[in-house]
Parts: sequence; structure tokens; C-alpha cells
Amino acid sequence: MRPCRRPGRRAASRPLTTSPGAAATAFVRLRPHHLFCLLTDIGRGYSPGFVATMDGVAARLASGVPARIVTGADDICAGLCPPAERHCELESASARDARALSGASEILGRPLGEGDEVRLDRDYLSTMRAAFRDDPARGRTPCGDCPWFDVCTDIAANGFAGARL
Ligand code: SF4
Repeated sequence: MRPCRRPGRRAASRPLTTSPGAAATAFVRLRPHHLFCLLTDIGRGYSPGFVATMDGVAARLASGVPARIVTGADDICAGLCPPAERHCELESASARDARALSGASEILGRPLGEGDEVRLDRDYLSTMRAAFRDDPARGRTPCGDCPWFDVCTDIAANGFAGARL
């Protein structure tokens, strides 16, 4: 799921869009692999700041704000790490996003790309979680080399109990 290091817990919030005031209700910028990571978001993350930001993003998505697919750092990871430490901008993260985009497109039955919007509503969560749990070839496309793999597997096996969304 997440930048600068994972296991940890929540903290304060930050602006969730590139322009805090103006775009506050328009959409959440989301990189593709976070379409999957949000399925298993139970309030754990690389740092308290990261978790707090993830909480804020999840709350906005739960309120009906759509996610807009972006390339690179999104509203979850942008601003959390100094530029020199941003492993979210490394080639491995881009590859993870590419695999995620392919998997999500297959699961949802429509081609997804940068700029497309997705609502993480009940139908989305049900469809994506079923694939995440039962169809790893599509449902775990971004997960293969992720250090959180076993954590997310356990969350899915536990029926996604405690998930923010
Ligand atoms: S295992 Fe998959 S869903 Fe879990 S944090 Fe890693 S990429 Fe995200």
C-alpha cells in the first residue's frame, strides 16, 4: 500500500488536493495501486501522518467524492516524504501502478487510465474485494513484491473487518 515505510498508526490531516481550498470537494487524486490498498485500509500505515492522510482520503471517498486516477504521488502519498526519499516515485512504484491499472480494468470490466474517475461505492468495494480475496491473478496484481502482502492477505481472510471503506 504505502510510502516511506509501513507498519504504524494514524495522525493529523493535510490538504487532500493540490489546491486545498478550490478542489476540496471535486475529486481525490489516486494512483492506481491505491485502488487496491484502500480495500485493506484498517488504519495501519508507514507513519502516523501517512495513516491520518489515508483516513482523510477514505472519509472523502466514503462520502461519495470520486477518485481520479493520476500518475505518481497522489493525495495519499504526496507531501508525506521529502522529495529525495520518495520511493513512491521510483520505477518499482510505477510498475506496481501499471499492474494495478490492468487488474482493476479487468475486474471492473472497463479500461481505466489517467484522468478517469472511479467511485469507491458499495458495488466497487464488493467487486474489488471479491477479486482481491478469491482471484489473486487479477485481484492482487499490484501486491506481488509488497512488504504488506501478508498483512493484506490476513485482512482479506478476516472479511476485511475494520476496513475504513
Ligand atoms: S499488499 Fe497489495 S493491497 Fe496490500 S498494501 Fe501492498 S499493494 Fe496495497
